[in-house]
Amino acid sequence: MSNSIMNTYGRMDVCFSHGEGVWLWDDKGSKYFDALCGIAVTGLGHAHPNVSKAICEQANKLLHTSNLYQIAAQQQLADKLTSISTMDRVFFSNSGAEANEAMIKIARLFGSNKGISKPAMVVMEHSFHGRTLATLSATGNRKVQAGFEPLVSGFVRAPYDDIEALNTIAKNNSNVVAVMVEPVQGEGGVHIPKVGYLKAIRELCDKNGWLMMLDEVQTGMGRTGQWFAHQHEGIVPDVMSLAKSLGNGVPIGACLAKGIAAETLVPGTHGSTFGGNPLVCAAAVAVIDAIEKDNLVARAEHLGALINTQLIEKCAAIEAVVSIRNKGLMIGVELDRPCTELVGIALKEGLLINVTANSVIRLLPPLVMSDDDANQLVDRIVALIKAFV
Ligand code: PLP
Repeated sequence: MSNSIMNTYGRMDVCFSHGEGVWLWDDKGSKYFDALCGIAVTGLGHAHPNVSKAICEQANKLLHTSNLYQIAAQQQLADKLTSISTMDRVFFSNSGAEANEAMIKIARLFGSNKGISKPAMVVMEHSFHGRTLATLSATGNRKVQAGFEPLVSGFVRAPYDDIEALNTIAKNNSNVVAVMVEPVQGEGGVHIPKVGYLKAIRELCDKNGWLMMLDEVQTGMGRTGQWFAHQHEGIVPDVMSLAKSLGNGVPIGACLAKGIAAETLVPGTHGSTFGGNPLVCAAAVAVIDAIEKDNLVARAEHLGALINTQLIEKCAAIEAVVSIRNKGLMIGVELDRPCTELVGIALKEGLLINVTANSVIRLLPPLVMSDDDANQLVDRIVALIKAFV
């Protein structure tokens, strides 16, 4: 392996050459079931014909102009996103971390406009928000932060899924202007909060004049069985970030805002050269259209339930399995022991999975799976666990 690439990833010794739907092929011709989707990115599977067509057509017309001008595909995408989310306005970025940076800047400016000189945001333990300096400071994982001090200040940490802790912060900290939270913690170990948690945060934010900010980078775009995970609780946040499966593989992120939060950024306060360019927006418009056309949000709910029920049944006799949890197609199988080796073992068997938080097998399979694909995935995971424990 050449060492001309910076050593930021522990890469596996495989190189994929092409894909179709749930399948990937490596450069030696071996076939793999992709149950990870490039970490929740290719929700529509690989080489989706409508997305590929939109990219090719747009590439033949125009790749990039600038946000100094009107961009028709960007306007079209913003209209679609605000319609499915009931948010008011969108800022386009190129990644999840950048979408969260926009969110953090909105919180700061919102606070500053209220006359708070040191505005703070509440963030959660075990959260993940990205690798830029502000987002790694917001992230609740010391490994992500170590060595990068001094961290960005202005974050107050709270335990996840603990509304009482937020109430205490509300009583004691008058600098807080926003809460930033993932509706399901993905990197943190597929942690699903109790029903009512997001609704309680909504109420707390309303009571205290805080902005409710949701990081839906991993949970958004249908994966959990709603377009956006907060819709399970019938609430609307003030700000929400998206990325990952928004472009099914083209780099695009978005920060959506509502009400006063949507009016906070004004010319000169934020920007991005590439953000929302014609190519990525044309791809994302095709993604939304394909999800709508094939009813994939409902399919995610159905497939998630199918997989979860079977996993519970087939793992019942495996003592090492301590918990199985899912929100649509965000699925975690927690073992009673570290199991990161499973990633390499599965790869050798032609299956792409991930292990997070050391002992949680994380599955993020595509929304375009058939029921047969889902059944096959369950059988392969169960066999993998049985052979391992
Ligand atoms: N937020 C969440 C919840 C994520 O899961 C991730 C990536 O895993 C990010 C933010 C960062 O996104 P990106 O890697 O596109 O910067």
